[in-house]
Order: sequence, then structure tokens, then C-alpha cells
Amino acid sequence: MPDTNALRYNERICHAQHLLAKAGQPAKRERTVVDVCGLRIGGSEVVVMAGPCAVENEEQLMATARAVKASGAKILRGGAFKPRTSPYSFQGLKVDGLKLLAQAREQTGLAVVTELMDPRHLDVTCKYADILQIGSRNMQNFSLLEEVGRCRKPVLLKRGMGSTIEEFLLAAEYVMKEGNTSVLLCERGIRTFETSTRNTLDLNAVPMLKRLSHLPVIVDPSHGTGHWWMVPFLAKAAIAAGADGLLVEVHCDPRKALSDGQQSLRPDRFDRMMRELRAVALAVGAELTLPECLPA
Ligand code: PEP
Ligand code: MN
Repeated sequence: MPDTNALRYNERICHAQHLLAKAGQPAKRERTVVDVCGLRIGGSEVVVMAGPCAVENEEQLMATARAVKASGAKILRGGAFKPRTSPYSFQGLKVDGLKLLAQAREQTGLAVVTELMDPRHLDVTCKYADILQIGSRNMQNFSLLEEVGRCRKPVLLKRGMGSTIEEFLLAAEYVMKEGNTSVLLCERGIRTFETSTRNTLDLNAVPMLKRLSHLPVIVDPSHGTGHWWMVPFLAKAAIAAGADGLLVEVHCDPRKALSDGQQSLRPDRFDRMMRELRAVALAVGAELTLPECLPA
């Protein structure tokens, strides 16, 4: 007796593959390695992107940037334009936030990833950022996807919180069909019936995305759980599942954060997590170099 459930899933996988001219695995034999200022994402090294949910002020950003760099992060995250559920919540420092991110890059050498919400901000964001983040709420904003597809900055595409893997890959296809093939897929949790966590981090997505596509896969355990104390557990699990990188929220004083403090790690806890991640990476045949690690 054929297993009809398994057949149904296999048919769906084939359906997705059929639609993926650019992002699909058969489109390309080798895996894509995305180059960000000379940093390779999608190779053997697990790349950690870390920083505050939102850029709040100069002191906060510089202190966080220095701390995450010292612990081994290679890319600084920080939202200048924030997609907030309430229009009355902090909306971000906008262009001033972008300028602070560029200043932090100058001081630390970290590359910068920040969210682009509106095509009208594309030029100014490209001027200051190294990776354009497309947030979960915009995963199916097709005109925004095509717009970033026409520029040459790497794109970190976050999975829509209610999107299937097929829809996620087809969103990546919107970027790639315009010519920009430097796309990082980011699993950041999906909405389920569960209420004890902010989202349900779908780690199934990691091996599935890597099977269906050649693009690097990043995991965001901060939005995926909504609880800082869960982040190290899920970060380790993500690396064990084959993630090429992580996106983690870090804040020097999470209780005072203007957004997402409850899911932000303090720098000391981030540092401890990085050491644990290195051990997991080594155990699964990946690499994660920390600043004090001497070459073998
Ligand atoms: C973020 O990374 O700060 C963010 C808003 O993420 P998401 O789009 O996944 O909610
Ligand atoms: Mn956030």
C-alpha cells in the first residue's frame, strides 16, 4: 500500500520545484554562497548576525555593536524603519538610524543588515546598509520584492508568519527573477495555535529549504520564540539542523529596550551562547570562529 500522506507531500515538493526557475535546487548544482563585504554566507562557516531589534540612540548601538563583535558576531543587525503592530509604538529613528548603523560599521568593521519597508527608502538604505532585510510582514509585498531584485545588495528575506515553504520560495523567486540572486532565506517562526511562545520556530523548514533550494538558510530564534531564555536552545538546534547563519537580538539593557526587550539577550548571555554554538557547529561538521580562536 503506498503511503498516501507521503505521496501527497512528495507531490507538493515537486510542485514547488517545478515553479522555482531560479531558487530551486535543480536550477543550480552547487549551493549559493552569498558574499557580504568579503564575508561568505552559505559556506562551511556559520555566520551570526546580532544586535538590537531597533536602533535607539548612538550609545546603545555602539555599545551593542562592540559587544557582539567581541563575542564573534560578523554582522550587526538593527532596525531603523520598524514595522510595529501599533502605529503609536516606536517607529524607529529612520534615516538617522541608518546613519548610526553606518557609523557602527565604521567603528567595528561589522557589516550591517537592516529592514527595508518601503521602496521609497531603497536608495538611502542601500547607501548605508550591506544587506537589505525584507520583514515577515512584507514577504508577499511583490512590488517591494521586485524592487530589491533590481538592485545588487544581498537580500535577507524573512518568512511570512503565515506562509508555507512554497510561498516563501516563490517570494525569493520574485527577487531572483529580477536579477538579484544574492538571497538569504530566514526562518523566523510561524503563527500556530500555540500561545506560550510568540511564534513557533519551524526548524523543519531548515532541511526542507536546503533540499528544495540552493540558497543559504538563516534562523532567527529571537522572533521565533519571543523569550530571551529560549534563544540559546533554539540557536543550537538551528545549527544542528543545518542553518548557515543566525539572526539574534541583543540589547545591553533589555528591560529598557524600545522594542522586543523580552526576546533580547544581554551581551554576557550572548557571549556564553556563542561559545556553546561553536561546540555544536564543530559537532555537525560546520565552523564558527570566535575572536580568541587561533587557527588550527
Ligand atoms: C525584526 O527582525 O526586527 C523583525 C521585525 O522581524 P520580523 O519581520 O521577522 O517580524
Ligand atoms: Mn524585533
